[in-house]
Amino acid sequence: MYDIIIIGGGPAGLTAGIYTGRAKLKTLIIEQLAAGGQAATTDLIDNYPGVAEGCTGPALSDRMEEQAKTFGCEFKLAEVTGVDFSGKEKIVRTDREEFKSKVVIIASGATYRKLGFPGEEEFTGRGVSYCATCDAAFFEELPVAVVGGGDSAISAAIFLAKFASRVFVIHRRDELRATKILQDRAFANPKIEIVWDSVVDEIRGTDTVETVRVKNVKDGKLSDLAVDGVFMYVGLTPNTEFLGGAVKLDSQNYIPVTPNMETNVPGVFAIGDVTAKLLRQVVTAAGDGATAAFAAEHYINDNF
Ligand code: NAP
Repeated sequence: MYDIIIIGGGPAGLTAGIYTGRAKLKTLIIEQLAAGGQAATTDLIDNYPGVAEGCTGPALSDRMEEQAKTFGCEFKLAEVTGVDFSGKEKIVRTDREEFKSKVVIIASGATYRKLGFPGEEEFTGRGVSYCATCDAAFFEELPVAVVGGGDSAISAAIFLAKFASRVFVIHRRDELRATKILQDRAFANPKIEIVWDSVVDEIRGTDTVETVRVKNVKDGKLSDLAVDGVFMYVGLTPNTEFLGGAVKLDSQNYIPVTPNMETNVPGVFAIGDVTAKLLRQVVTAAGDGATAAFAAEHYINDNF
């Protein structure tokens, strides 16, 4: 049996692991794909303290993973398919094995939302993408569109502009949600054009994306943009389905937590993007991880 099972190996889960490993608690981190989570798909992280010169998401994630390993964390690549938190010993089921622990820390993050307009599903992987860092290089000297106006969309647009001939940002309002510094960078980039007050009506093509049909929400007019790629950044969906109701969720399926990162189930903590919170960043994820690890250590001392 493990002391701690951490579900998810993004910055929140890795930081929790660094702290629990360092506290000599037997820790297992279960990650579905590769460690690093959403941060590992981010091109540039320049708002994490100590990396002011800029650092790529994958590089920062690799360093966190190495640090967690240094402190003795075990890693498993598997998909968590279910949990049983009804007893004092918690059970975590994956597609391969079942694990038991005294504490579970949920750090399963969030994934990019889909909107479901015609063509989105059909052209996913054939021009429609949810990861600029992964796919930008396929669009060298080609026009692309980004959908959304938040930090993710604008960061992606700036990154894509290094490859693409032109980047249209399709945003449903007349102002961006993204932070000012990202807005300034986007406005100063001659390759980036914001298509204001607009939503995607349909993506069309034959084998791959050829046009995106855009609807102006103010006058209802439809127009076609010739693009080879469409990058979707319209917010997040928390990864909580696998919990099957084992912890309380809010109306948007995020996990509400106490200031000590406790869920409504004793011995089960939640951290990072999967929790109901104001700010989803690497720095807040790391802070959550450290707090949960410390609280979990206290829980184990008091209960086992
Ligand atoms: P977000 O902040 O929720 O932004 C989602 C964007 O999609 C908004 O502009 C929203 O428009 C638009 N949108 C939502 N539903 C839509 C719909 N049905 N049709 C058209 N547009 C729609 O999500 P995010 O950008 O993925 O960011 C998530 C979190 O990660 C945030 O806390 C963000 O700060 C953080 N993050 C930070 C950084 C960074 O610091 N560099 C980078 C990435 C992410 P409205 O604006 O009109 O609502």
